Amino acid sequence: MPACRNHPEVVEHIVDCSRCGGAFCPDCVITLQGRPVCAGCKGEQVKDITSGAVEGLEPAGRGARLGAAIIDTLLLMAVLIPVYMAMGIGSAFFDKEQQTTWFHVITNVLPLILYTFYEVELLKRRGQTVGKMALKIAVLDPAGAPLATAACWKRALTRNLLSITQIGGLIDALMVFTKDRLTIHDRVAKTQVVVWKR
Ligand SMILES: [Zn+2]
Ligand SMILES: [Zn+2]
Repeated sequence: MPACRNHPEVVEHIVDCSRCGGAFCPDCVITLQGRPVCAGCKGEQVKDITSGAVEGLEPAGRGARLGAAIIDTLLLMAVLIPVYMAMGIGSAFFDKEQQTTWFHVITNVLPLILYTFYEVELLKRRGQTVGKMALKIAVLDPAGAPLATAACWKRALTRNLLSITQIGGLIDALMVFTKDRLTIHDRVAKTQVVVWKR
């Protein structure tokens, strides 16, 4: 088990400095353009970034983003379909009017809640949903650092509230084809989606 170079007692959540390769705890590294860098390497890394010796982050491809969204949607459906099936069975206990209200609420609100929590939790933990992991892309803040919790919420809520009206969801998704590839949820949460091959 590798331990932090500065804190030998810390063996959990160890990350390797992207410059010297040394093992460090999260308190001993900072993130520069999405890469972990230790305190000893920070100065050199900043110099290299400003001089252009370290390449910047590459924006994620539109196809990869679309593919990631499809994977996430399928995953969500796999969870929801059994719920809907159970509802079909359960509906026998309700009269017609109750059934419509009940069905309406669940079919609209449940996916919204589920998807929002799914997205927030995963973005908070690693900047990637399952779909994004599969297609090797990640969400970062404009400086290339991991997202703050507030940004995760803004991003997930904007996307999912827009998708209540199908046209809103569609416009939001199609904005990935704008020149800077920023969707409405990227703009609101100030996030960027980048290639993440690690
Ligand atoms: Zn280092
Ligand atoms: Zn440490």
